[in-house]
Amino acid sequence: MKNSQKAASAAKFVGCPTCGKPAAYSQDNPYRPFCSERCKLVDLGAWANENYRVEVKEADENSIPSESPPES
Ligand SMILES: [Zn+2]
Repeated sequence: MKNSQKAASAAKFVGCPTCGKPAAYSQDNPYRPFCSERCKLVDLGAWANENYRVEVKEADENSIPSESPPES
């Protein structure tokens, strides 16, 4: 019985996707599976920034005006 009681109160730890540190995967950690709010925001920011860069890169290539004027 002691074992089951101990398992119920023991927090499960997972590796934080951002920094790799062990993060408590329980209701005590609202930022799970991240270790902290900062790591959660960093991860979301990285995804948003990556998508933004991809879109900007494609749009930039298509919107580059030809520097050579058309000759007639
Ligand atoms: Zn972290």
